[in-house]
Amino acid sequence: MRSQVILSLLSTYFSTSRLSFLSGPSSKLSSGLKEVFSDDNQLPVNKSIAIVGAGSAGLAMLKTLTELPDETKQSLNFILFEEREDVGGIWLPDINIVHPPQLPETPLYPRLRTNTPVPTMTYPNVTFPPGTPLFPSHVHILAYLKRYASRFDLYDHIAFNHKVTEAKWLGTPYAGQWNLTVLNSNGTNETKIVDHLVVATGNNHIPRSPSWPGQDSWLRQSTDREILHSIYYKGPERYTNKTVLVVGGGASGRDASSQIYGVAQKVYVSLHHPSSLEIPPEIEIRPDISHFTNNTIVFVDKSQVKVDSVLLATGYQMRKPFLEAGDVMAIHPKTRFRQSNEDDRDDDITASSPTLTTNFKYIFPLHKHILSLCASHPPTALSFIGLPSGIANCPSDYAQGLFVTHVILYPNILPSRDEMLAELELQEQTIREHGLNPYEVGHRLLNGTSSEYQDDLVDFLRDKGVISPYTPKFVEQWRRDANYPYLRRGWIHIEDLGEADQWLEGVETEAEWADLMNRVDAWQHDWENENNISFVPDPLQFSYVDDY
Ligand SMILES: Cc1cc2nc3c(=O)[nH]c(=O)nc-3n(C[C@H](O)[C@H](O)[C@H](O)COP(=O)(O)OP(=O)(O)OC[C@H]3O[C@@H](n4cnc5c(N)ncnc54)[C@H](O)[C@@H]3O)c2cc1C
Repeated sequence: MRSQVILSLLSTYFSTSRLSFLSGPSSKLSSGLKEVFSDDNQLPVNKSIAIVGAGSAGLAMLKTLTELPDETKQSLNFILFEEREDVGGIWLPDINIVHPPQLPETPLYPRLRTNTPVPTMTYPNVTFPPGTPLFPSHVHILAYLKRYASRFDLYDHIAFNHKVTEAKWLGTPYAGQWNLTVLNSNGTNETKIVDHLVVATGNNHIPRSPSWPGQDSWLRQSTDREILHSIYYKGPERYTNKTVLVVGGGASGRDASSQIYGVAQKVYVSLHHPSSLEIPPEIEIRPDISHFTNNTIVFVDKSQVKVDSVLLATGYQMRKPFLEAGDVMAIHPKTRFRQSNEDDRDDDITASSPTLTTNFKYIFPLHKHILSLCASHPPTALSFIGLPSGIANCPSDYAQGLFVTHVILYPNILPSRDEMLAELELQEQTIREHGLNPYEVGHRLLNGTSSEYQDDLVDFLRDKGVISPYTPKFVEQWRRDANYPYLRRGWIHIEDLGEADQWLEGVETEAEWADLMNRVDAWQHDWENENNISFVPDPLQFSYVDDY
């Protein structure tokens, strides 16, 4: 029933021609942010916007549109296309069992618990329900996102079972529209024409699967051998009594290896940066793989192991297939962006390149990891929500959503394209000054800069006069203070003691959740000190791990 309503809404949304200019500025409060258009800002004209993806990023973008004052909203036609049957993105389980090369709809597995404390995984001012464990199972995250979509009436704007398969730009560098091909729930292609395209399709869907010399021959020696990416990981049972090599020490690799070692004969983990991660002593750490022989896997330190299965927890490719199909994004694994003429390389992407580029880790050139600076279209034509990592995604998605919504409404507040390109060069330069390669780092923010990143987006809107001059710093103090090296161990300890309910009692507001995290962290710290237990704090544990 809902999808019928949406389909009829869709035809209305996209068949209407441009409406007239709005009559005047709005002064209506929207979720704490007040629109106060300064005289310099042009009034919004009618615009159509398509968002792609109803995970946490797409929902945040949608919310920032729905909470605009009514007068402003009347000038916008917006719709979100989601290829699956509900909201939630990676947190929505896939009931189908698929085998390679077919890809599952989500990397979710039944035993998945969050690796970040749940109070930090919230949109501003929307807490998890009382009683939610600090590191809950995936079920809680899906319920939270569904509740968010219901509470703020986001469902009405979503076309489920609609997959965007191609986005083509019809226009010039200064004006134009998107021609979207959308595969609908009946299996037919529809064409949708929109002014602005917002891509919120997530970064954990297309596996990055490295390969090594000799691996095919190794596989051919026995039908029992396999090399599988963690996107197919559904639990440790598959590895019962086997000898397994897990490649990668990000969240997925650590989670899988710590589950598998309970049932497997032996588990090895190959780490690019062997470190002091809290890996059970039964698991043997190895360095990078060098190559495969017919019977063994050889590492760069020349050590060898014999295993039955290899699990690649090697992350995901930064790809947007419908942009590639529409010639809006090109794939160049080895190229880089260059604005100046110095240090030429033939394969460099320049300011006049007609497409965006992905090297599988990084999409460029983008302004603030959001707006496309591709030469073919204006910067507000194409934007991305949810690319940054090293950041708590819900609040960041929301800050990015606010930014995109307001620059679509008031494109004149943006610097010129040349200025934005120059800013991008500076951003990449700063990364180099930290000894890192921006084309490897991609959209991962430098340590300690995530609050500043979000604040900057909202401060910019405030300084340009399109949101209230009284808007406070976007990132709340308790989120800035969040640094809890003992928290996860502490929470597991509390659950083992059966005392979780007592700790959670009366915890409801953001301040109470923040206080709980402080108390658990301090309690575990004291307990470890009193018992002379010394763990090397795991830096990944409290830094919003996103190498999945
Ligand atoms: C195994 C795993 C565990 C994780 N654990 C944590 C954690 O503990 N804490 C944390 O903060 N983060 C975690 N993450 C990161 C997680 O991905 C983000 O937290 C967040 O949920 C990403 O949301 P998103 O909306 O950006 O993308 P997604 O959740 O991937 O949503 C994208 C949506 O876009 C839709 N879509 C894609 N292409 C199209 C198309 N062409 N047409 C229409 N719809 C399309 C998809 O169906 C999907 O619904 C984890 C990730 C993984 C893989």
